[in-house]
Parts: sequence; structure tokens; C-alpha cells
Amino acid sequence: MTLPAEKINGPILTATTQTQLRTTIDGWKEQGLTVGFVPTMGALHEGHLSLVRLALEKADRVVASIFVNPTQFAPHEDFDTYPREEEKDIAELENAGTHLIYLPSANEIYPDGPASTLKAGKAAQGLETDFRPHFFDGVATVVHRLFEQVKSDVAVFGEKDFQQLQVIKEMVKTKDMPIDIIGAPIVRDEHGLALASRNAYLSDAELQMARQLNKVLYQTASSLRAEGEAIQSGLPRRSDDLLAMTDKAKEQLLEVGFDKIDYIESRWDRTLAAAWIGKTRLIDNMEI
Ligand code: AMP
Repeated sequence: MTLPAEKINGPILTATTQTQLRTTIDGWKEQGLTVGFVPTMGALHEGHLSLVRLALEKADRVVASIFVNPTQFAPHEDFDTYPREEEKDIAELENAGTHLIYLPSANEIYPDGPASTLKAGKAAQGLETDFRPHFFDGVATVVHRLFEQVKSDVAVFGEKDFQQLQVIKEMVKTKDMPIDIIGAPIVRDEHGLALASRNAYLSDAELQMARQLNKVLYQTASSLRAEGEAIQSGLPRRSDDLLAMTDKAKEQLLEVGFDKIDYIESRWDRTLAAAWIGKTRLIDNMEI
């Protein structure tokens, strides 16, 4: 039996198949209610929950999905060990006001086996793709399939994964999908570290180092902003100045204990970074 859409304080609605998903969502649509969607890979934190809250402001009903998507991991990456905490996640989504949780099996998303069938567009070039070439095709494929199944009016994605947000906006435009993509601001801890499921891999000492990333990015973005203002006001600048700023940021991160910097680069209106501490890869970005 499908619970009435108005039932908000009872046990949360869950769906594991497209049929269950449709029963509830079609019911909402028949009542003229709008639907918001928040796709996640679980191991939820305040960052994810902020997306649910934003979706609740934009739509009458909110669906969140938990699916650790195999096609966005390369064979040497952490698919098997990615944190999975389904019971806790469900309780937190319920508390945040989610109306329906979609928990598909791999077969429900990939009936023909896990493979990327979509190529991400121009926004995917460079940055993450230089280091994880498979990644955005996997993201575009799974998000496209989830969008086709959920058929929401809006979907909310975090600006923490800024390039991903651009890839999804581009995909929706190219495929002419009737869905509004909304970006949500990055949620950070009290030291400015962007919350991430993979932060769970960090030891206490590594956590201290990780907290330097946002500080270095903040300085770099501020210097770049000042440089941009100087250029606009016509002051002469050497063309290698901008590169020198990101090079300095890389050095600073290595000095505080980061093991490897994949990139620190400016694109769109952001300075974006990906860097390793031990076996943990962190990403972050800051508005210029
Ligand atoms: P994930 O479960 O890591 O695939 O993330 C699911 C969604 O949560 C994506 O749209 C992410 O950008 C978003 N997200 C993850 N961490 C944060 C954060 N610290 N602040 C805002 N959004 C986030």
C-alpha cells in the first residue's frame, strides 16, 4: 500500500524498484505536487542534508537516492571500501524531512551490467578528468538514468563537486531534459574543511593537515581576485603571475604534509583543487 503523500511524520517511504518509485511519485504528480531530487552515494553528512533542506524549499516533495555508483570508480579506486551506513543514512534523511528514499540495486540502474553509456560534455575536460578519466562518464550515465527514473522537477547538487555540477548542467541542456539543476553552497566544519564522506578515512593527524586545504585555497582565491582587480584597473601584470600563485599554493600544501597535488587551477569563477593525504583524495574549491 502506498502511504498518502501528506504523511510526513510516519516511517519514511522507501523504494528499491522503479515500480515502487513511480507509484509514489505519480501519486504526487496527480495531486499537482512538485518533486525535488537529491542523488547521493550515502555515508551522509551535513553537506548532503543541506541539499535536502534546499530541495524542500524548491519543491513540495523530496526524493533522495543512495546508490554507490560502480561506473564512476576505476578498478584501483575505493568502490569496495567506500563507507556504507544505510540505516544511519535513512534515519538522517528522514529527520531532514525527506519524503521518499530510493535505494536501487545495481541491476535496477544497470540491467545490462555496469558500464558508462553516456559521454560527459565539454565541462568534463581537464581538472578531474586528467586524473580520473572514467569519472564523469560514470557520473553522467548514472545521473541521467536516475533522472529518467525519478522524473523530478528540480535536482540539487553541491558546489563542493563544482566541475560535476557543470557537467550535469551541460548534460541536462544538451539532452533537453525538463529539470532545473540547483547548486548548493559547500558545507564546512568549524575549521573550514569541506565535509566529505571520504573524510572518514583520515586519521586525527591527517585531519589536521586536511584543514589547511581550505585556508590555502582561500589565500589563493583572494590573491587571484586582487590580481583580477589590478588587471581590470589597467595596472601592468606579468602573464606568469597567475601561475606563480597556484604554484605557491601547491608548495604550501606539500609543506603542511599533503603527499600529492593533482591540481590547483582556476576555472569558471573558482579556484579548484584536488590533493592527496596518504590514501585519501580531497577536493575543494573557493569563489574568486
Ligand atoms: P556524494 O554522496 O559524495 O556523491 O555527494 C552527493 C551530493 O552531495 C553531491 O551533489 C555533492 O556535491 C554534495 N555534497 C557532498 N559534500 C558536500 C558539502 N560538503 N557541501 C555541500 N554539498 C556536498
